[in-house]
Amino acid sequence: MLLSIKFQARNRFLERGKAVEKCFKCGTCALMCPVTRYGEGYNLRETFMYDIFSSEEPPAKQNLWSCSVCYKCYEVCPQDVNPPKVFKALKEIAFETGRAPLSVVSLVKSVIHTGMSFPMSDASRRMRAQLNLPSFAPKDVDDLGKIAKNTGLERKLDILKAKRTNEHE
Ligand code: SF4
Ligand code: SF4
Repeated sequence: MLLSIKFQARNRFLERGKAVEKCFKCGTCALMCPVTRYGEGYNLRETFMYDIFSSEEPPAKQNLWSCSVCYKCYEVCPQDVNPPKVFKALKEIAFETGRAPLSVVSLVKSVIHTGMSFPMSDASRRMRAQLNLPSFAPKDVDDLGKIAKNTGLERKLDILKAKRTNEHE
């Protein structure tokens, strides 16, 4: 039986991920997914085929953000479904509708303001030195800030952060 999708944003989502309707729930993708295998609280079979697509509000599902976009599942899918593309579409909808998690807002802000998605720790610096890598200094961070401001991204992030913070209080 092919996957059936029931939720409000269905048409909007299918414009971006039409191939998902070809999924016949074989579970091969979950066998190859490293986050399913080594992560906690994430199972591609449950996330992709049951949790998300049996939900009326899949973009609100927080576990879709656990996908590391490695494309292993896409390589093995016999139906050419491309789960990370499906998640990408849902993440875009989640961001546009204010349902992206606070951790993602912090990560994007970190990239805009420091050029890095995580803080450089002393341990990371030591490891780079041991590997004879040059010290890391992000370039053109000012330009990133200008782009974020002029495209409205910074403002969107502030609105999203305020919304999610209020929801958690
Ligand atoms: S491998 Fe492809 S067809 Fe099989 S469950 Fe995963 S997405 Fe669906
Ligand atoms: S792309 Fe995402 S869902 Fe697919 S195997 Fe990688 S982590 Fe798992």
